[in-house]
Amino acid sequence: MNILLATVELSPFAKAGGLADITNYLPTEWEKFGQSSIVVLPQYQFIDTNRWGFQPTNLILYVPISQWIEYARLWVGKLPESNVPVYLIENQDYFNRPEIYGKLNEYQDNDRRFIFFSRAIMETARVLNFKPDILHCHDYHTAFALAFLKSQYRFNPIFASTAGVFTIHNLAYQGIFQPQRAMEFSTFGMKEFYPSSWFEHNGKVNAMKVGIMFADKITTVSPNYANEIRYSYFGEGLHDILNHRGADLVGILNGVQYSQWSPENDKFIPYRYTINNLDEGKRLNKYQLLKQFNIPSESNWDLPIICNVTRLVEQKGIDLIINKIEYYLANNLFRFALLGAGESRYEDYFRYLQWKYPNNALIFIGYNEELSHIIIAGSDYILLPSRFEPCGLTQMYGLRYGTIPIARLTGGFVDTVEEYNLNTGLGDGFTFYQYNADDMAFAIRRALEIYHIEPHWIIIRKNAMQKDFSAKKTALEYLKVFNWALEKVRKSN
Ligand code: ADP
Repeated sequence: MNILLATVELSPFAKAGGLADITNYLPTEWEKFGQSSIVVLPQYQFIDTNRWGFQPTNLILYVPISQWIEYARLWVGKLPESNVPVYLIENQDYFNRPEIYGKLNEYQDNDRRFIFFSRAIMETARVLNFKPDILHCHDYHTAFALAFLKSQYRFNPIFASTAGVFTIHNLAYQGIFQPQRAMEFSTFGMKEFYPSSWFEHNGKVNAMKVGIMFADKITTVSPNYANEIRYSYFGEGLHDILNHRGADLVGILNGVQYSQWSPENDKFIPYRYTINNLDEGKRLNKYQLLKQFNIPSESNWDLPIICNVTRLVEQKGIDLIINKIEYYLANNLFRFALLGAGESRYEDYFRYLQWKYPNNALIFIGYNEELSHIIIAGSDYILLPSRFEPCGLTQMYGLRYGTIPIARLTGGFVDTVEEYNLNTGLGDGFTFYQYNADDMAFAIRRALEIYHIEPHWIIIRKNAMQKDFSAKKTALEYLKVFNWALEKVRKSN
């Protein structure tokens, strides 16, 4: 199968969140199953083309925008540890900038940037003469490519039998654009913009809706989130549209690249460990973590550590943590380790927390890949009170490292974390349902009650470490959906 994967984030070149990891491992795994994919990504200013071995090609793209043509040059490289070609779209005006999305997720011309990119994706296939069986677009930024596939490029021989698949990573970011700009840039024109057209939502162009409507199949990143978003509470205003396409909407659980995220072969953590020496392994990593944060050795190093590695945004339930955390730290009930960056009101709060409780608050504000591994390995629990969570990766990392999740039962947490049962010894985490700090506190209390209490403490961590969310499984599920999409296109041709 020929697959063209289009994305604005791709690890290790350009990462803001989980999207980058998934777009990295899917083609890597597909290659192992004999599929041939290419990945298309904008060439941002911060991508070090020398370091990653990207070369300019002599291929120029002619990209129709509004009434004129704009240009881009293609660069080519490879996904590390694979032979998957990665094509970078070079255009100085749109992508020679320091951020993927801009500060607070918005450059003012993101409509134009992403419509340009979507059109450039189609032109890339054309100049390469790459005939995709599947055009796989991720999130709203690439959604317009699916509209182009089903209109301007429909009878182009390159795309004659191409099926379009759209993957929703987070419904909260939709790409809501001014119609006069977006309809013109995309060349569809205002004639295609009318109430309830596939471009229109609440009087604006909604790129997420465009992706949902033009795709042959739609996937999202966990089975439970696929159900949730069909209700108004989680649907971010698009639940009716999602119900309309309900027969083609599938939830596929994200996976983890265990080659990078496993305590037995993690290149970042000070002490590697397996399920057979997890007690010692975790203790050594914990002590190293405490040392790294200059926690004095006279203070009790065996206090539990609860951690979180997260974007500091409302979605992640930071308000619930803020509501309760001081009580715990002031009473030496546990230490809190946080690695995060995001909204300044949250960043400031955690700086304050570290100042007030220097021995119990281990805070690092910023983005740090290496530290994310060290914190997850060295902590006992990971606290995840998200308001909503399409899938979530860090609970799966936590499970693999024997770091027990305390999670709110929403989105992907429902598919991945199972409440520990003291009677049966089954389960691997502690959960709560309501978005409420007292319910979270009760789950924390249950979690702390089994800390170093055997046999529970060893059982729960072994249960956790044995769970399997491998990227290989995820990649196979996508291939199944691709086959359904192809069948749909064949039938309609
Ligand atoms: P989301 O995609 O909503 O941010 P996920 O849990 O799906 O949430 O993925 C977040 C990814 O980003 C994980 O791989 C996590 O380890 C990583 N991450 C988040 N914040 C940081 C940070 N400050 N430093 C390093 N890695 C981070």
